[in-house]
Amino acid sequence: MSYRLWLAATAGRVWGEATYASRMAVSRAVTALDDPPARKRRARKVLAVLGETYPDAHCELDFGSPLDLLVATVLSAQCTDQRVNKVTPALFARYPDAAAYAGASLAALESLVAPTGFFRQKAKTLQSLGQQLCDRYGGEVPDRLEDLVTLPGVGRKTANVVLGDAFGVPGITVDTHLGRLARRFGWSEHTDPEKVEADLMVLFPKKDWTLMSHRVIWHGRRRCHARRPACGACPVARWCPAFGEGPTDAVEASRLVKDAGRA
Ligand code: SF4
Repeated sequence: MSYRLWLAATAGRVWGEATYASRMAVSRAVTALDDPPARKRRARKVLAVLGETYPDAHCELDFGSPLDLLVATVLSAQCTDQRVNKVTPALFARYPDAAAYAGASLAALESLVAPTGFFRQKAKTLQSLGQQLCDRYGGEVPDRLEDLVTLPGVGRKTANVVLGDAFGVPGITVDTHLGRLARRFGWSEHTDPEKVEADLMVLFPKKDWTLMSHRVIWHGRRRCHARRPACGACPVARWCPAFGEGPTDAVEASRLVKDAGRA
């Protein structure tokens, strides 16, 4: 048996009863052997286990149409999805299409989106988004990345959310959680979201990009927090080179696990 196979088997066998020190040793040793094919296998294993842990991982913004999702994603900048979801029912009812946003008064938009923060800028963005959609795309949200990123307030992250969740076109959404976890997992060393996205494109098949984004983001919101990740209650700890950044004691770590909501 090769050293790598032996190590993988040993890691699986001892993990459940291992001490903190031996868990750290296994975690470091497994990831130290990461040549590109091994990294890809490890990444896909992590994704599979996250799938078992969060079987209903999905976009946490409420929406009924591509336009709704585009608007909700613009509002989610510097704001929680939960707060956005409280604001959007009234917004979507009052502005059902791009023409409605284009003709909206800024004061009315500002008042509706105020709880999401940066409301003056967001109101302006929604109004000009509606105008651009009417002027250039017949009032419809385009379904191509290269078109979406030309719209006001829409970067690659927002475009990939809309593509993946409204149009079923695979997209990788590198938000703060996915970027942080990609670095913790050793999937990318970059902080530039576009470079992280490029690294993840190599590790996962295109068909999995949207689901991968949701699962990792859910894990980031529920367990792998920026400051105190719940390492001792983490289902993918044995494949994570950052194991130990947070409490490794199971009881202490379990107190850090959140059921839902955006961190
Ligand atoms: S919670 Fe800890 S072990 Fe789990 S992915 Fe985050 S850093 Fe790694």
